[in-house]
Amino acid sequence: MPEPPTSVMWFRRDLRVDDHPALSAAAKGPTVCLFVVDPSLLGRRHHDAPTRLRFLRGVLESLDEQLRARGGRLVIRYGDPAVVLPELAAAVGASSVHATRELTPFGRRRDRRVGDALAEHGIEFAQHGGDLVVPPELVPGPEGRGYRVFTPFYRAWSKEVFPAPPLTAPEALDVIDIASDSLADAFPSGPPLIPADAASAAAQLRHFAEREVTYYREERDLVADDATSRLSPYLRFGVCTAMQVARSLGIPQPLDLGAEAFWRQVAWREFFHHLMWWRPEAARRALQPRYRGIAWDNAPEHIEAWTTGRTGYPLVDAAMRQLADTGWVHNRARIVAASFLVKDLLVDWRIGERIFMQGLIDGDPANNNGGWQWVASTGTDAAPYFRVLNPIAQSKKFDPEGIYIKRHVPELRRVPDEHIHEPWLMDPELQRRVLCRIGTDYPAPIVDHAEQRRIVVARYRDATDAREETV
Ligand SMILES: Cc1cc2nc3c(=O)[nH]c(=O)nc-3n(C[C@H](O)[C@H](O)[C@H](O)COP(=O)(O)OP(=O)(O)OC[C@H]3O[C@@H](n4cnc5c(N)ncnc54)[C@H](O)[C@@H]3O)c2cc1C
Repeated sequence: MPEPPTSVMWFRRDLRVDDHPALSAAAKGPTVCLFVVDPSLLGRRHHDAPTRLRFLRGVLESLDEQLRARGGRLVIRYGDPAVVLPELAAAVGASSVHATRELTPFGRRRDRRVGDALAEHGIEFAQHGGDLVVPPELVPGPEGRGYRVFTPFYRAWSKEVFPAPPLTAPEALDVIDIASDSLADAFPSGPPLIPADAASAAAQLRHFAEREVTYYREERDLVADDATSRLSPYLRFGVCTAMQVARSLGIPQPLDLGAEAFWRQVAWREFFHHLMWWRPEAARRALQPRYRGIAWDNAPEHIEAWTTGRTGYPLVDAAMRQLADTGWVHNRARIVAASFLVKDLLVDWRIGERIFMQGLIDGDPANNNGGWQWVASTGTDAAPYFRVLNPIAQSKKFDPEGIYIKRHVPELRRVPDEHIHEPWLMDPELQRRVLCRIGTDYPAPIVDHAEQRRIVVARYRDATDAREETV
């Protein structure tokens, strides 16, 4: 039998050992398990994200431990992958580089460059599936450019979901020992805000799928309840995968209502990732051309008030403080905060997109962009622009007792329940008694929602009209 060829396993956002097609392929012979820290990627504005980088560092350390338990290790190298990979592959005599396929515009551009550079050295670049349940090509949509509306996407996508049996992690790795750089040179120190190891991710998935998922449908929108899976950071870096979620839910067996509602949300992730593949232009501008010319205000003092959670609207402020304190925000609170920035403060959604990317541990180019464009009515499935969320009504509906607000905005902790959604309505005597003087301890609303609603609707309409005149 010929000796299996030497290869490089290039980890990117697939940081696990279980159920890993690329790793299983690489592990058939001697291999180097590699993670490349690309300074040009870390220098991009969306990656100025210390909380996420601390988590990523924890994930990489956990991956290293898992590889060491199999006789291997994770080699770290700094530099442009199009330079690092051919050099390293040539140095160890590798004939191929294995990686999990990436779908973002940046990832695809980089992989084309890396593939070309490897080809010049006669080295194969083998890209494997694994991050998504269904690759985008299998759901091309009616015009061959993917879907822009979720429900038909979900129908078509569901027909392609076939959970395969899991690939077991390689028991032993035949590794080539070469020098490694240190993570400490690029990543912030300090423990991650949430556990970053694979065992924690697996335990969380198991616990949620076996117990909590039953209540998901009724409780997922209640911002004070811990009723969602909190799997997003693990899915973001491939510590666990959507396919593993599918298996935990028992798919293809019929799902109960809770599991079905949860699985639909996982499908939103696939939807937005497919969208980035089919329409990479959405990464930088409104998916719908008619909303590319909106006149935004982008007032710095409004952006500052929003970012620091001092808009005077309690649910918006609680969301932004949760982001700053924990690196995670409940989905409903993301929607309300994002809508407020775009539609009440007339700030370009791309500014909010960047601020979320810099704060979220789960910050993901496709999901974040999809979420922002959805809220801004510029993207998929978009709610019509004239449907502007009322932050007070949302607060009453999804945090009726103000538990979430009080958890994240300490100035409001003594405010009676009947005033928690509109604390400015307290009379001065009550404000003094509950230690919450509006304008001093907690801001008065920085804009009037009803007035802003009128302005934003006109701005969207003007953008549409101007576009219609020019086409
Ligand atoms: C403005 C805005 C920005 C967002 N930015 C991100 C982001 O950067 N990264 C990110 O992973 N999600 C993002 N989301 C989607 C969603 O808020 C999070 O995925 C969810 O809150 C994560 O918590 P969870 O894991 O407990 O979710 P669960 O409710 O338990 O859902 C399970 C999984 O399904 C996926 N999912 C759920 N809802 C959505 C959704 N609306 N869109 C896409 N995928 C979804 C996630 O992978 C999530 O982990 C954003 C939403 C909005 C409105």
